[in-house]
Amino acid sequence: MILKSGIFEPNKHGYNENVDVDLLNAWNAIVSHSPQYPEGFFQYSLHISDSLGAFRGLPTTSHESCNFRSYTLPESSQAKVSVVISFHNEARSMLLRTIVSLIRRTPEEYLHELIIVDDKSQDATLLDDLKRWLGRVFATQSRLGLIFLTNQERRGLIWSRNRGAILASGHYILFLDSHCEVNDGWLKPLLERLALNPHMAVSPLLDLIDPETLSYRRGNEMLKGGFDWSLHFHWLKRRLGRKERPEAPYKSPSFSGGVLMISREWFLKLKFFNPNLKIWGGESIELAIKLWLCGGQIEIVPCSRIGHIFRRFHAFEFPSERDFTELNSPERSSAQSTYLHNSKIIAESWLDEYKNMFYALKPAAKGIPLNDTTTEELQQFKHERDCHRFQWYLWNVSPELRFNLEKLSATGTLQNEDRCLYARNQKDSKKGRQLILNSCYSKDITQWSLWSTGQLSTQRELCLGVGLGRRLSLEPCARTETLRQAQQWVRTGTHLMHTATHLCLDNPIKDQLELNPCRSQAVSQSFQFALEMERQT
Ligand code: UDP
Ligand code: MN
Repeated sequence: MILKSGIFEPNKHGYNENVDVDLLNAWNAIVSHSPQYPEGFFQYSLHISDSLGAFRGLPTTSHESCNFRSYTLPESSQAKVSVVISFHNEARSMLLRTIVSLIRRTPEEYLHELIIVDDKSQDATLLDDLKRWLGRVFATQSRLGLIFLTNQERRGLIWSRNRGAILASGHYILFLDSHCEVNDGWLKPLLERLALNPHMAVSPLLDLIDPETLSYRRGNEMLKGGFDWSLHFHWLKRRLGRKERPEAPYKSPSFSGGVLMISREWFLKLKFFNPNLKIWGGESIELAIKLWLCGGQIEIVPCSRIGHIFRRFHAFEFPSERDFTELNSPERSSAQSTYLHNSKIIAESWLDEYKNMFYALKPAAKGIPLNDTTTEELQQFKHERDCHRFQWYLWNVSPELRFNLEKLSATGTLQNEDRCLYARNQKDSKKGRQLILNSCYSKDITQWSLWSTGQLSTQRELCLGVGLGRRLSLEPCARTETLRQAQQWVRTGTHLMHTATHLCLDNPIKDQLELNPCRSQAVSQSFQFALEMERQT
């Protein structure tokens, strides 16, 4: 194994210089025992990861003022940090670089322990190799605690993070993914905010490590984390207040990813990540809602930067669960079933009457069985902590979700007799989408929203309109009054009439859709939304 020169920069935090030599040996030993993986296994370049070395310099991505200001910090004896990393099938070089960046870029006096959980990875000897080498390099030379845990069975990220948190003994816990690099000075800006408010949870601004090239790019500080009514994560635009500087910490409705830091005591009081959530998905949205509603806050702190690989697809399989067998139909993958199950728990736990919005958009969630023994516990918790109702979140934390609701007339699937309006992707992507009727239960059946502007849009913000030759079309939703005219609909009973042409949406034959003169009794022109907003009635 050849290590690039210059990988080991001057040691900034006063670790013994021998550490570098030992670390070099550790890297060689760990990475050279890497099993063979098929191309694309990790959804990032394994080859580049292996050749980058254990440590590399990173560009400064935070605002220059971040380095010059001094931070008001608690005594290190009062601010010990436990880092919890759970991984399932991570490349050896990637995991090691994550760990080394932490050790090298965190002031020694604050870094209390690393808790590394192997969630039953295929590479069965990885954790032992790590244990042996990291123990040799660090445990003897610093006071850093190292805890290595292996799950006998695959338990998923949520369970594993909770397992790590139970064992943590620091004042704060940082939850980190296993494919990150922390940037210089990441800790202090976060600690400062946490020390100011013990009920705070913070996220660094996540920089982007490109999965193909592993190049490190600046993340966008004008974005905050949020979610839509189907409980999928979305980036939302951050608006700067008057005199607010972009590098100042800002409130966020949800975390911008799974990387977050919180006081251990507070996390315990919040009863961890909801242990009923399975494997992966929804846990940071759940924690975010719980935090906001039950006396906490979330901030993103742009002076703190941590790089994370955002992958386009999951690099791991979701085990199919026994109780999901019915739901794991060939039409729905195990990943989708798990996500649906977890989202349903969030909706049932926190959304109050607004859960109807969720079910309108995710009707398949209705059929998912939940273990309801936990409801009582949850009610007690909400009572003890005097948690707000979800409506409070809409008014005080995420106006985006509320605006979305206020401007909505109806939403969900759009049903004509026993089938639903479906915007199907065509094989030739240039051809756009084809509009047909399809089974309402097909896995990607389109969810429509009818807005107060008269526009009828898909979740991908394509609007149903009428183009040349009075043909139905799906185009990006128009923002101006004039352009909007071709995309406006009014409802007369259950008919959908195109305002400009006075023609009605119709299903004259088979699965086809057309525009035809309106006939008030025609069943083929009757379209019903899964959910009508109250104002309509
Ligand atoms: N992970 C895990 N067990 C699982 C699935 C994921 O421990 O069953 C780990 C994974 O290795 C990673 C973290 O959980 O460190 C978050 O997963 P991922 O990065 O795939 O999620 P994303 O960042 O894409 O949201
Ligand atoms: Mn990740």
